[in-house]
Amino acid sequence: MLRLENIKKVYLTGPNQVDALKGVTISFRKNEFVSILGPSGCGKTTMLNIIGGLDKYSEGDLFINGKSTKYFSDRDWDKYRNHRIGFIFQSYNLIPHQTILGNVELALTIAGISKKERTERAMNVLDQVGLKGMYKKMPNQLSGGQCQRVAIARALVNDPEILLADEPTGALDTQTSKQIMDLIKRISQDKLVIMVTHNPELATEYSSRIVNLLDGNIINDTNPFDRDDEIKECEELNKSHDNSKEQAKMSIVTATRLSAQNLYSKRKRTGLVAFAGSIGIIGVSMVLAISAGIKNYIKNMQDDLLSGYPITIRQSSYDIASLMDSANKKEALERLDVIHGHVNVNSVIEYLLEREDTISTAIIENNITQDYIDYIKSMPTEYYSDILFSYGIDPTNNIYTSFSYDGIESQNRSLSSILTNYKKVLEEEEEYASLSGYISMFSSPLAQAPSNKEYILSQYDLLEGDIATKKDELMIVVSNDTELTDVSLAQLGYYSQSEFLNIAYRSYKDKNDKASDRYNPDLDKMRFSYQELMNKRYVYYPNNDVYTKNETATASYNPFTYNYLESDTWTDGLELKVVGILRPKETISYGCLNSGFYYTKEFTEYFIEKGLNSEIVTTAKAQNKDAYISPFPNAITYNMEFKDASGASHTTD
Ligand code: ADP
Ligand code: MG
Repeated sequence: MLRLENIKKVYLTGPNQVDALKGVTISFRKNEFVSILGPSGCGKTTMLNIIGGLDKYSEGDLFINGKSTKYFSDRDWDKYRNHRIGFIFQSYNLIPHQTILGNVELALTIAGISKKERTERAMNVLDQVGLKGMYKKMPNQLSGGQCQRVAIARALVNDPEILLADEPTGALDTQTSKQIMDLIKRISQDKLVIMVTHNPELATEYSSRIVNLLDGNIINDTNPFDRDDEIKECEELNKSHDNSKEQAKMSIVTATRLSAQNLYSKRKRTGLVAFAGSIGIIGVSMVLAISAGIKNYIKNMQDDLLSGYPITIRQSSYDIASLMDSANKKEALERLDVIHGHVNVNSVIEYLLEREDTISTAIIENNITQDYIDYIKSMPTEYYSDILFSYGIDPTNNIYTSFSYDGIESQNRSLSSILTNYKKVLEEEEEYASLSGYISMFSSPLAQAPSNKEYILSQYDLLEGDIATKKDELMIVVSNDTELTDVSLAQLGYYSQSEFLNIAYRSYKDKNDKASDRYNPDLDKMRFSYQELMNKRYVYYPNNDVYTKNETATASYNPFTYNYLESDTWTDGLELKVVGILRPKETISYGCLNSGFYYTKEFTEYFIEKGLNSEIVTTAKAQNKDAYISPFPNAITYNMEFKDASGASHTTD
């Protein structure tokens, strides 16, 4: 069934080289229970991952039913992993805020199986592993043994031919371990089970074959597969190549493809993907692969759609699985027709309110340490084409635009103060308070675009104007559906305060009478013309205008005042013009830019240079401490980040 031939695996980590496997040759029968034994670090997990297609061998070959995998495409590996392999890990890898049924269903969700069939199949395998009737329990209500049963059910739900288990009882007590082993042994009656363990007693008691690994080599095998028998098995398997089964599998492949098409096709995308695109979680999601199934889902997305999309690692990011779950609960919002010369509005606000429970649990924090950065920097260069470190530059304190307050007066305010204003007005009304947090979390009104024009144009069509290339140029990227989100438009001053509040009222009108009374359809603004978008005036002012030195302040307290309103006396402004509107090409579902507003690398450089020479930064540096800037009487604190001459990042706090 499986044959490893002289498999070697070398890990390169910076200057070091680890020979994890040094030439492993072994064959497995289509039906046996193999235990791999060996001390920690001898290469057991590596071997299992290579067998499961989770990791690639450096040298040698892996044969599946006699077929070499040397020239396997990523797509072939995906198929193999998805339809032939089930994984169980020591740490059950369950999604904590989903029911156990949800956890098991997830693999099928990804494969595009209908809700009804998913539930049926998931319940069925949960019954098989002894969890009948516990479908609605959450993982934290279960014992370790029960969690492992859920993980086994998840591995079995796709009916794989091979079950791979990496120390499945490593975290369990003896009694529970035995129960789990009984279960795995039962499974091994009609599957190939390969289990890694460091417990020789369990291996001897339960498995039909024990393979000892030491230092990357096999040193003993209690029941090797005779080569002639192997060739015979292989011929039989290929002859009997059971058509009905193949068809069933084909239909899963087809289903996967169809569901992928549904997900990505322009009109039928589900809420999640639309949502993901609007808030930029796609890049992050790649790092969050939870099970082989998700890995596969993400990989497809990466291969087909994210060509050239960078992998982004952020301090805070989102758990794709829980977002996906929430997206599945609700169909996509209705879409407006696209009228030539106009950009439509995608109401993220409505979306967020509907999903606020899931979203708050979907946020995770990454702990990015200096060691981690050093590790990234020392990666072999053939693994990547470029690495970009972001220093958290935020120009929103320094860019000003007009904003109408309550539809009466229009003021030129900084973008950060427009955002603060929205947050404040929402916080004042209890029912919208949580929305206030999401708005700042899910959007940054401006970001830096890559500087390579050809690269951008390989993924985007120009709807209007040209690509921004100069320091005073901005460009707008709309989604595949020709949309910008209400959240970004609001932060850039395209809505007046009353128009903005009206969105919150609209989103809440069915839940709450007060909102329903206040909602005024006349204030709905669901479409902006290219001209409206491009004619808005933005001006950047340097720190010396924006932050006024506070002569009376003591050195120990905030020595600067932030001027959130534009002043006539400022002379050093740089007017920023929106010069173009882009949309992803038909063939690209997700390009390198999410929908939103972008400035150029030239602007970033200008911003940093101006910032470095500004009084607030030199003062902060001279005092060798972070500056403290409190612009409003109600003590809202602004952060400003800047790089010092050595390139290190500082934050004023
Ligand atoms: P086991 O599962 O037997 O404890 P592993 O297969 O995890 O051992 O690891 C074998 C060797 O390869 C160890 O020396 C380990 O440090 C190294 N190794 C495993 N994975 C990686 C990786 N991703 N990068 C670098 N070294 C690795
Ligand atoms: Mg291991």
